[in-house]
Amino acid sequence: MKVLVINCGSSSLKYQVIDSETEVVLAKGLCERIGIDGVLTYQPAGKDKIKYEAAMPAHKEAVSLVLKQLMDPETGVIASVDEIGAVGHRMVHGGEKFACSTLLTQEVLDTVASCNDLAPLHNPPTLVGVAACKELMPTTPMVGVFDTAFHQTMPAEAYIYGLPYEYYEKYAVRRYGFHGTSHKFVSQRVAEILGKKPEDLNIIVCHLGNGSSISAVKGGKCVDTSMGLTPLEGLIMGTRSGDIDPTIIEFIAHKENMTLEEVMTVINKKSGVQGLSGVSSDFRDLAAAAAEGNARAQLALDAFAYRVRKYIGSYAAAMDGVDVIAFTAGIGENDTAVRAAVASKLGYLGAKFDAEANNVRGEEATISTPDSKVTLMVVPTNEELAICRDTVEIVTNMVEEAVGK
Ligand code: ADP
Repeated sequence: MKVLVINCGSSSLKYQVIDSETEVVLAKGLCERIGIDGVLTYQPAGKDKIKYEAAMPAHKEAVSLVLKQLMDPETGVIASVDEIGAVGHRMVHGGEKFACSTLLTQEVLDTVASCNDLAPLHNPPTLVGVAACKELMPTTPMVGVFDTAFHQTMPAEAYIYGLPYEYYEKYAVRRYGFHGTSHKFVSQRVAEILGKKPEDLNIIVCHLGNGSSISAVKGGKCVDTSMGLTPLEGLIMGTRSGDIDPTIIEFIAHKENMTLEEVMTVINKKSGVQGLSGVSSDFRDLAAAAAEGNARAQLALDAFAYRVRKYIGSYAAAMDGVDVIAFTAGIGENDTAVRAAVASKLGYLGAKFDAEANNVRGEEATISTPDSKVTLMVVPTNEELAICRDTVEIVTNMVEEAVGK
């Protein structure tokens, strides 16, 4: 089956077409500046990338252009829309309602919309993307794969905040966690690589990208994760502060004469390693600046790695021990210096870092010595493939149910 995987933002839409049997990406690309003017990028497998401007007043036009491009007689990968067996949508916030991926019926979409309060920036655009696809492909099954779903197995002691309980009851204020598709994919892949059952492993997954989060996966189930009600909590990120004393918000609002919203914008968009360094949110720029003697860039790198190590320690405690620590996403897969800064200081866990083996980028590798008590690994994530797999599973079950198997 050919699966169209869609990841929709407020003004962008990433897409891939994956052949689910071979798991080969047939084509991928991106629509940008939706609602402004519109730029489409398209790359069929093994061929050059194409990029052009095209009017995208709304997501429907963007999806329509993607389909047209996919059917292009010269560069396309399908002859007609009917060749797409299903569409898998990355959904951000499923609240407590979705512990797994699901077929996007109208009832389900209404339930997702009821979670919009929890993710006002992220959920509405994904729903707009689903609506656009449904309009253009009315008979194609659509599946939603939630960023929060994998974390729904967390016990109450891990997801509850020390706030009046009524806020949880009235407004569902609790830890949800994000990047769940990646944490699930990587933890399962770790077990596969090691030839072990997920039930027999305690794994800490460090998803270190522009947005970063860590999860504790015990016996195949997530038992804790660093992001919270929103993706702001936890690690120091590209532009997000991660954990801070909540009083700072009030303090800065008074000192800088800012509204609550303005301070929240600072904490989301102008903080993290960008705010600390004043250089960039990109770790390649930070490394270059630090190498030239920029002390604040070095401080940002040090603070980032320190926070990661602190979380690793707390999750080893949460799981009563750890077997594997896996690094993934842009920084985790590529930044050898950040990995070294984290992994070389885990000796207290019995982890023995192998500096030579660490010299890899973007590929699966073990970066601990053979006698290490904890296996340190690099495992590239693939959220699109994970969405494709879930989509196929749900559509196959749906068909089997329909024929009464
Ligand atoms: P997201 O999906 O959250 O946007 P990614 O997982 O793609 O983020 O990670 C992007 C980040 O990864 C970049 O901002 C950059 O800091 C880092 N990164 C990517 N490639 C490299 C590299 N070769 N060396 C160091 N850092 C890298």
